[in-house]
Amino acid sequence: MDLSFTPDQEALRDAAQRLYAKASHGERVREQEAAGIDPALWEAIVAMGLPAMAVAEADGGAGASLTDLAAAVEVHGAHLGLAPLVETAVVARLLARLGPSATDLLEQVVGGASATLRLTTDATGPTAYAAAADVVLALDGDRMMWVPGPAGPAVRTLAGLAAATVDTTDASELASGGTAVAHWQRAVDEWRALTAVAQAGLARASLDLGVQYARDRHQFGVPIASFQTIQHRFADLHERVEGSRLLAYEAVWALDEDEPTAPALAAQASWYCGLVADEAAGFSLHVHGGYGFMLEYDVQLHVRRAKATRLLLGDPHRELQVIADRRWGSNAPAPDAVASARTARPLRAGMDFRFAPATEAFRAEVRAFIDAHLTADVVDRAHATGTMHDWGFHRALCERGYLAAGWPVEVGGLGRDAIDQTLLMQELYGAGAPIDGLNIAAMVGATLLVCGTDDQKAEILPRILAGEVMCCLGYSEPDAGSDVAAVATRAVRDGDSWVIDGQKMFTTMAHEAHYVFLLARTNLDLPKHKGLTMFLVPMDTPGIEITPVATMGGERTNITFYSDVRVPDSCRVGDVDAGWSVMHAALVYERNSANWGEPNRLVEAVAAWAREPGPDGTSRLDDVTVRAALARWSTELEVGRLLLFRSAWLSAQGDMPQVEGSMAKLHITEAFVRASSELIDLIGTAGLVSSHEPGAPLHGLVEHAFRHAVVTTIYGGSSEVQREIIAGRGLGLPRSR
Ligand SMILES: Cc1cc2nc3c(=O)[nH]c(=O)nc-3n(C[C@H](O)[C@H](O)[C@H](O)COP(=O)(O)OP(=O)(O)OC[C@H]3O[C@@H](n4cnc5c(N)ncnc54)[C@H](O)[C@@H]3O)c2cc1C
Repeated sequence: MDLSFTPDQEALRDAAQRLYAKASHGERVREQEAAGIDPALWEAIVAMGLPAMAVAEADGGAGASLTDLAAAVEVHGAHLGLAPLVETAVVARLLARLGPSATDLLEQVVGGASATLRLTTDATGPTAYAAAADVVLALDGDRMMWVPGPAGPAVRTLAGLAAATVDTTDASELASGGTAVAHWQRAVDEWRALTAVAQAGLARASLDLGVQYARDRHQFGVPIASFQTIQHRFADLHERVEGSRLLAYEAVWALDEDEPTAPALAAQASWYCGLVADEAAGFSLHVHGGYGFMLEYDVQLHVRRAKATRLLLGDPHRELQVIADRRWGSNAPAPDAVASARTARPLRAGMDFRFAPATEAFRAEVRAFIDAHLTADVVDRAHATGTMHDWGFHRALCERGYLAAGWPVEVGGLGRDAIDQTLLMQELYGAGAPIDGLNIAAMVGATLLVCGTDDQKAEILPRILAGEVMCCLGYSEPDAGSDVAAVATRAVRDGDSWVIDGQKMFTTMAHEAHYVFLLARTNLDLPKHKGLTMFLVPMDTPGIEITPVATMGGERTNITFYSDVRVPDSCRVGDVDAGWSVMHAALVYERNSANWGEPNRLVEAVAAWAREPGPDGTSRLDDVTVRAALARWSTELEVGRLLLFRSAWLSAQGDMPQVEGSMAKLHITEAFVRASSELIDLIGTAGLVSSHEPGAPLHGLVEHAFRHAVVTTIYGGSSEVQREIIAGRGLGLPRSR
């Protein structure tokens, strides 16, 4: 996996940025909008060689990849370039594929002629640039036609774009039959993916405009960027825009590499990036208040362009139907074909979305482990008791070294990088494994590794690693939730001991644990973050009481009470009054806790269920509503996967991700809540039957997901807390309360 540009791609992007900053700024776009095309910009991008760069050298191009071209297209989108760059590039590659019948036209196009293609199946709808391009292509049935431009009188549209209804009366045939249709479809997919990149560029530029305006504009005596409602919306969009860019590049990469998933990814990117560009531009206009509505301001250009571009293929909702066909229809690629296509080719430099062969081998090893150890009994027992931990399974995980997969080998870990570690967790989540205990024990172990005393490291750590000892986390209290630094549980020094009094809420695993990792207040005179100390308290110490708490999701958690609990100073972890930094020390090892595997399993399971033919031979997947919902959630989760692995990839590169983990957690958990709600609707009344009741569809997976998903947006830092982090650290917005 490599999510960076090559030096050549970076150089191209930088050169494009210089060109577009001069040739396609807001004022210039406004001036040229009525004409719908900017001839000077077109000349400049032809001089730079962009439209034909992704055509093979033998055909007169520069032999670049679609990904290379995308580096410039992203800039084109960000600057609202009024020229048919994507269209011409796609037509040039299509003409090259057609062979001798298209040689003359190809020569014209690689020589600097502009081109476009009629994308919509509605022949009366306008085609972008058809009123200005030199060459216009259209598919009529299975006949590919071309007409010299202009292909019809210009019609004013929402965003200029020199649009015209293409008149094919005098068109000449270029090719026909199944091969022509296949070439055409490939060209439309290339258009989808490249346009998705342009839309991601537009979305980022729109968001930047909105954020800058919100910083500068004051109301009620403060910048409007300090209002939490505005910050949180920006945070959502920041995450969605990042995700849209990743998805767009994944689609382009898949086309470059002829991945079996390329057609589905192209449609997913087209739908998602169009949606997000629309949302980002729309909110940025809103943040501009009345000024956003004025033609003098640039943001309205973004709104109109985002929407118009999104509509060029026709109703964007139809893309969801295309996605469903390509993901689950009769021609959808089998998972085996996808996997073998990936392992067959070497990794490439720059923007490669494949896992390394060693990572794929590790995944196979993890899957074999799960097959061997995660029995139905283990899963059923966890659900029946609500304790998401199983000692037998936990010890097997520990024996295999999975508790410390990402720790260095010298300290007892497997030395796996963050990508492997993330993959391990997602495989376990996706299989429904009960691993609350694993997560907590790993976090406490990692903290001891960084902050523990030699004795703690020698006596407790090996037992945690061996799966003999379990821990629980005593952070939350009745009055200290998201604001965990407000804990009131007191630890008072008495000679060489500490005496602890207080109450902790939601102490999950306390009833199985040997130790509680407990955050207590040791100094009332210091600011609240500074008067805290961390302790590792044996659960069999007199004075600790545990009361079970049942939850809507079925998970058991606990309230724990501490009265006169006396522990030696050797139970302290880290320095006195340094508990806050001890609590965060484990972050070095705990990189990607977001649970993508579970929501992904939900969507895939419902898709498989919907595909099953009924007695009359039809399936639920024939229902457009079902298809649309599944397409939407599989796409949202693909974005979540990309955000998650982007964060892991950064860690694996040696960087310390800042807000990337928060973006992944926010995106995935919010999608989980909405997906589980919409998917239970699709199942209807049968979806209400409780999990593990006889006859529950999918053994009640969706009913359980509906009850459980919401908590994932609360623990581990609620969605609002993640938005605060993204707005503050990611967008640099002022602190809000
Ligand atoms: C099943 C379960 C297991 C758990 N396990 C553990 C555990 O093992 N150990 C442990 O210590 N804790 C555990 N927790 C507690 C969990 O970490 C807290 O629930 C979480 O931190 C939120 O705290 P709270 O519930 O007090 O909600 P609050 O913090 O009171 O939040 C209530 C609402 O206000 C919002 N909010 C809070 N602050 C802000 C803000 N600054 N801006 C905008 N909105 C805000 C929140 O997003 C939320 O929507 C568990 C919780 C559950 C439900």
